[in-house]
Amino acid sequence: MSRTLQGIGVSPGVVSGPVARMAPPAPGPTDTGPAEDVEAETAIATAALAAVGADLEARGRRAGGDAAEVLGAQAMMAGDPALADTVARHIRAGRGAAAALAAAFAEFRAQLEGLGGYLAERVADLDDVRNRAVAAALGVPMPGVPDPGHPFVLVADDLAPADTATLDPEQVLAIVTERGGPTSHTAILAKSLGLPAVVACAAAMSVADGETVLVDGATGAVTLDPTEAELAAGRTRQAARAALLGSATGPGRTADGHPVKLLVNLGAARDLAAAASADSEGVGLFRTEFLFLDRPQAPSVDEQRRAYAAVFEAFAGRTVVVRTLDAGADKPLGFVTLPDEPNPALGVRGLRTARRLPELLEGQLAAVAAAAADGTAEVAVMAPMVSTPAEAADFADRVHRHGLSRAGVMVEVPAAALRAAAVLAGCDFVSLGTNDLSQYTFAADRMAGELAELLDPWQAALLELVRITAAAGRAADKPVGVCGEAASDPLLALVLVGLGVTSLSMAPSMLPEVRAHLAGQTLQQCAELAELALAASDGAAGLAAVRDRLG
Ligand code: PEP
Ligand code: MG
Repeated sequence: MSRTLQGIGVSPGVVSGPVARMAPPAPGPTDTGPAEDVEAETAIATAALAAVGADLEARGRRAGGDAAEVLGAQAMMAGDPALADTVARHIRAGRGAAAALAAAFAEFRAQLEGLGGYLAERVADLDDVRNRAVAAALGVPMPGVPDPGHPFVLVADDLAPADTATLDPEQVLAIVTERGGPTSHTAILAKSLGLPAVVACAAAMSVADGETVLVDGATGAVTLDPTEAELAAGRTRQAARAALLGSATGPGRTADGHPVKLLVNLGAARDLAAAASADSEGVGLFRTEFLFLDRPQAPSVDEQRRAYAAVFEAFAGRTVVVRTLDAGADKPLGFVTLPDEPNPALGVRGLRTARRLPELLEGQLAAVAAAAADGTAEVAVMAPMVSTPAEAADFADRVHRHGLSRAGVMVEVPAAALRAAAVLAGCDFVSLGTNDLSQYTFAADRMAGELAELLDPWQAALLELVRITAAAGRAADKPVGVCGEAASDPLLALVLVGLGVTSLSMAPSMLPEVRAHLAGQTLQQCAELAELALAASDGAAGLAAVRDRLG
């Protein structure tokens, strides 16, 4: 008899295969005795840190892209001289190499947690470096992705960036994790690798190695020991999906021809080629933060101009919506944001930073305008974290003064959604940032995996804000897009269109799925799905109702 575990499907696809579980962390460092030979223990600890740093660097080089950056940052943690000093201090105080490493990492962890926000989230990355270093010092295998010698379904408590970055898509059939949420590393990387994935799947780690499971990355169902009939049904679903994906190309359209612009999100220069080659009408969200991060001060206007020009050139003749710098909260920037804000998500972030540093915004707008003047991309500019109609109108005036014709704002704060008509009166378009809009609507930190069900973009309260905003757009005959993760959920995309959204911007890998689903429903059917989702008591119920209707 088969049994089904239910998690959250974050990357679609249906596949079956034997489970291989992630190796548990190395045994605790208390297993080692006190340091008898300070010099020898120090040498062991130093060699362990060096080996871990080199291994992470090498994994980063193999993985490339975003992963290289994350792994490079982890390698830097391992190579931090202050860490080595702290380890040496603990060894001099009588600890063995592994115990000294653990104690030193614990000190660094406390410091990182104390900094809060984005940096506190790096704690998981630091813990991963610690586990690797302790394993290296003890001479036991590094914790990490198993290698059973045949294709497998990877089951883990949660995945660290170092693990997901070097996953071999030839060997890994699907990913199932006990923890994590829709915006976790696992979800984002699985989507970009095109691997079916289910997160927040309770008891997944209790499945034995070698046991066959059927994973449905759309429904979040993980069937243990599936029957022949269940496997056959899974194969049929997967074949239907492949046929669906192959059936639609070109601009987004519903079955009755209603146009919905399908756009890509772009957040790093190295993703430019892949983003530009995707079958899209342009960029719906160009996150410009990457130009500013890890710098002591803002890049010059000229350097910015060159970076923007490269993007406009790659998207010649297509839309590019540039978002001005979104510093603060989960994206702290030393020279912009205040280090001691008690609650950075509610502090001076996004457009609000222009109150203190108007020259930063002016420089960015000048650079965008100069780059736009040199190319043929249809450039629009939008501001993050706008709360009031006055902020929207002031921002649009600034943009227009730079000779840029299209100025919009992101709707990420409930106040802006509730007053969308007035917001739109002062600018040319809006784009819903559903990641932050969920966070602020539900008063739930967007990085808190534990609160995943509150942050679920299927929640009717969030969809109600989308509805209000889209209605204001329709009345004003101005575009209302969605550029948060919600846009890349193929079923939710139907609901968003039914609510009146005019464009959807997402990771390039998700475009075919969303395009194909759109092509299968009329605008009226999308509106009916939206009604079902709006009437649901919570996100899970909304999704279930829509899925039921679609059969
Ligand atoms: C959002 O908040 O939904 C969004 C698209 O912006 P970011 O994720 O960059 O904050
Ligand atoms: Mg945002």
